[in-house]
Amino acid sequence: MKEVFDYIDSNKDSAIELLSKLVSQPSVAATGQGIKECSDLGLRLLDELGANPKLYDIGEGSPLVAGEIKSKKNPSKTILFYNHYDVQPPEPLELWDSPPFTPTIRDGKMYGRGVSDDKGELAGRLKLTEAFLRTWMDVPCNFKFVFEGEEEIGSIHLGQYVKKYPELFKADGVIWEFGGVNPKGRPQVVLGVKGILYVQLTSKVAKKDAHSSLGAVVQNPAWRLVGALNTLKKGEKIMIPGWYDDVRKFTKEELGWIRKAPYEAKAIKADLGIKNFIDNMSVEEVKKALAGKPTCTICGIYSGYTGEGSKTVLPGEAFAKIDFRLVPDQDPDDLIRKLRKHLVTQGYEDVKITYSEGEKAKRTSPKEPIAIAAKIAAEEVYKSPPIIEISSAGTGPMYLFDAPCVAIGGGHSFSNAHAPNENKDLRYLVMGMKWVADTVNRFAEA
Ligand SMILES: [Zn+2]
Repeated sequence: MKEVFDYIDSNKDSAIELLSKLVSQPSVAATGQGIKECSDLGLRLLDELGANPKLYDIGEGSPLVAGEIKSKKNPSKTILFYNHYDVQPPEPLELWDSPPFTPTIRDGKMYGRGVSDDKGELAGRLKLTEAFLRTWMDVPCNFKFVFEGEEEIGSIHLGQYVKKYPELFKADGVIWEFGGVNPKGRPQVVLGVKGILYVQLTSKVAKKDAHSSLGAVVQNPAWRLVGALNTLKKGEKIMIPGWYDDVRKFTKEELGWIRKAPYEAKAIKADLGIKNFIDNMSVEEVKKALAGKPTCTICGIYSGYTGEGSKTVLPGEAFAKIDFRLVPDQDPDDLIRKLRKHLVTQGYEDVKITYSEGEKAKRTSPKEPIAIAAKIAAEEVYKSPPIIEISSAGTGPMYLFDAPCVAIGGGHSFSNAHAPNENKDLRYLVMGMKWVADTVNRFAEA
C-alpha cells in the first residue's frame, strides 16, 4: 500500500481542492437548491475517474448518481461506496463565521456546509480511487459508487431506487457514508444503525378552539392525547403488545465489544447538564441501551396556548410527535399495526396516527471480513486499536443494502455537522482516505 499512501500524501492539496469545489456547489435537499447542479458535478467527477457513471431519475426527488470501475486482477469481488451529495440547510446564516458555500480554511480546518457531512467523505473516496488507479493502474476489487441526493431528508426515495435498479446496490461489502475518530482521536469502526418509526398522534375533538369555561361539558383533546400517550410506556417498558417480539439479542461477541468501548459518561452528562441517566444506569447499561434498546420518545407536544402569560382556552386539537428507535429485527410496518391495534384496545380509536418515517435497523457482525479488514486497517493507519461500535444510536438507510456495511472514514467529533460552522479537520481527510483504502485492499484480498 506504500505507493497508494504516498500518492494520497503528495496529492493532499488536490484532495482539498476537490472538496472545496464540492462545497462551493450548494445542494440542499430540503429546498432543492443546487441539487441538479451537484448531481451533475458528481456525475462529472465519476466520469473523470472512468467509472462510467449514470444519472438515475425516478421522476421525483433528487437524482441518484452511480458508477462502477471493474478490477482487472480481482473482478469477482465488489465493494460499494455509499455517499450522499446533499447537505442540510445552512440556516441560521448569521451564526457562520464565513459564508457556508464559500469554503474557507482556518487553523487546518475547512469550513463550509457539507464539508464534513458528507462531501468530505465523498471527495476522500474519489481521491483514494484515483490513488489506486494512478499507482496500481487498477483497483483492488470492483468499486461501485452510489451517491444519493436525499440522505438529509430521510433517504425518502432510496428504497424505490433499490427496487428499480437492484444491480446498482449489489456488492460484497459496503463502505458507509460516515465514520472517523472519537473525541480523543481513536478510530471507530461503526457496524450498524438503529431503525426508526416516526409518527404523529392527533386528537381532534372540536373544529376550533373554544372558551375554556366549556371545559365543564366539552371533552379536552389534550387530556385525551395525554391519556393515550400514557398507555404507551410504563417506566422504561413499551407497553404495546408484541413490541419486543422481534428484538434480536446481542451475541456474546457483541457484548464483549460493547464492554470494551469507551464512553465519556461524565463529559456527556456535563454537556447536557444532567446528574444521572435514566434509573441511574451504569456506564455499561448506557452503552447497551444506546446500541440496542428500543425507545419511545415524545419529540414534541402541542395543543392550545403555549405563549407567555395565560389564556383560558379549550383547544380543539392536540398533537404529539413520537419517534420509536428500533433494533434488529423489528419492522416498522409491523409495529405501526401493533400501535394502531393497541390504541383501539385501550379505547383511543379516535386518536389518529400519521406515519412520517420508517426505517429498519441493521447490524453487521464483527466477524464479517469487511469488519475485520476495517479493524486491522485502523491499527495499521492510526497505530492504535480501534473502538468497535456494534451500532450507532442513530438511524440511516443501511438496511436497504444486503451486503455487510462498515462506517469508517475521515470524520471527527467536533465537526458541527448540521450546525453553523461545519468543518473538516484536514488531517483526518488524509487519514480517512488511507484507512478506507487499506480496508478495501484487505477486504479484496481476504
Ligand atoms: Zn447529515
